[in-house]
Amino acid sequence: MSLTNPVITIDGPAASGKSSVSREIAKRLSWNWVSTGAFYRGLAYVSMQEGTPSQDEKALAMLAKSDCWSVEMTSEKTAVIYQMKDVTAEINSEKTGSIASVISQYPEVRAALLQAQRDCSLQPPGLIAEGRDCGTVVFPEAILKVYLTARSEDRAKRRAKEQGLELESTVEEQKLRDERDASRASAPMQVPENALVIDTSSLGFEEVVARIESELKGRI
Ligand code: C5P
Repeated sequence: MSLTNPVITIDGPAASGKSSVSREIAKRLSWNWVSTGAFYRGLAYVSMQEGTPSQDEKALAMLAKSDCWSVEMTSEKTAVIYQMKDVTAEINSEKTGSIASVISQYPEVRAALLQAQRDCSLQPPGLIAEGRDCGTVVFPEAILKVYLTARSEDRAKRRAKEQGLELESTVEEQKLRDERDASRASAPMQVPENALVIDTSSLGFEEVVARIESELKGRI
């Protein structure tokens, strides 16, 4: 499959800085930006509202296709709309992230959400897509694939500070979520072939963005 518009993918574990870095790159290039995690978080939220059990793969795959909810790209956020209301603020908790990681293990759920993620690249001039399998499964033809990582303590500290959570339980929850995401059979989180791998533990935000920008030279 060839892409109409160029795509850059940024994958990596929880709280590795993917969202802020990818949003900044999108802003500098005046490209679109999507957090593919919003599809899984959105489905997790909607399944809780609709009372769909997190073990029912078939019902979840059907709900994934339901028109009671949708995902919309904006420059500041990837919005989730449910029953005509913007519920984006409600999908960001670590609890919703954990449920997202449970239901994202199901191949039928992943298949049901894939096309809508790919369709985000149809809008010109280009797309920055962040998630877990953007470079491996959603956009294998991306012009640049980045994998961001950081020490787990640093990532948990970042998330705990952002959301006012206790550090110890955040470390544990993220560890569980990352292990689940990396070990699932269907589209596991992994470093894409030929990816630019950046460990953000001891780098400032500007340095991370600059490394990606320098890698982009000559590609766009
Ligand atoms: O990136 P974010 O923390 O919003 O993702 C929430 C969860 O959604 C992840 O832990 C993962 O289980 C799932 N996800 C996925 N594939 C993606 C993006 C997110 O399985 N491309």
